[in-house]
Amino acid sequence: MEGLVLAADLGGTNLRMAAVDHGGSFSHLIKRRVPPNVSPPELIELIRTLAAEISASPRALAFTAPAPVPFDFDGVLTKLPNLSSVTGMNLKRALEDEFGLPVVIENDATAAAIGETWIGASRGISNSITVTLGTGIGGGIIIDGKPHRGPDGIGGEIGHITVEPNGRRCKCGSIGCVEEYASATAIARIAQEHGMKTRDSAEVYAAWMGGDATAAIVFTEMGRYLGIMLASLANAINPEMLVICGGASAAWEAFAPSTQAEISSRAYPRAASRARLVKGILGDNAGLLGVARSAFLELAGERV
Ligand SMILES: [Zn+2]
Repeated sequence: MEGLVLAADLGGTNLRMAAVDHGGSFSHLIKRRVPPNVSPPELIELIRTLAAEISASPRALAFTAPAPVPFDFDGVLTKLPNLSSVTGMNLKRALEDEFGLPVVIENDATAAAIGETWIGASRGISNSITVTLGTGIGGGIIIDGKPHRGPDGIGGEIGHITVEPNGRRCKCGSIGCVEEYASATAIARIAQEHGMKTRDSAEVYAAWMGGDATAAIVFTEMGRYLGIMLASLANAINPEMLVICGGASAAWEAFAPSTQAEISSRAYPRAASRARLVKGILGDNAGLLGVARSAFLELAGERV
């Protein structure tokens, strides 16, 4: 399959766009801030501006969205805690009208799992779970080589697995979700609860690198909660690989030992030893590349 796809990662803070080829090489990567409370017409205008700067002749558009996306997605964005001003917008139709090209949309975390499986850490692996540690926690589940989206596009919402039944209230409405204990946001909060003056998870990690004992406690605690969630998933899905990506995966060395210990002590021994815990290798580009892969498969009539 020759040609290019214009792929974009649409998040609550940034829009990142690049031209991607069929082998996963990309060019003209551009990142722009999404204005707070952006309106649907403003969002399309921003997309048009970036596409003009990239100046490719794409065969399709490929977008991630921080929203539930079923396989037969109609394009209407729902449940957007970090991009609520465009809730109800039909992104697919708006892009089709604007560009006159096929449009493929994937949930951002599902796209990251597709990307890592295409040319990243889980390349060639048929059964894996990719965890995205950012402002929240996203998940992408690949079973027998196919992304598991579920009939409502909610398959893979692993950030809302309960790890503390009487714990903190989550913005999803439930209580004690792992997102409240192991996301980048949670790392910063746990550090503050332990008296650290750090402002974000990167600063907590910098303190850990400098040998700070409190930062070590924070990452042990955060890693443990992540491991509690992954141990349950290891038993439920029996994956060959658990891929940790997203911004907070930069602190991998700080939390991974605690996560691995928790998986080993809780999951079935066979499931725990089967599920290799690794760090993602595509970084911020996993979602963008994954949705480009979906678009190439769509063009070939092979998307699953
Ligand atoms: Zn939740």
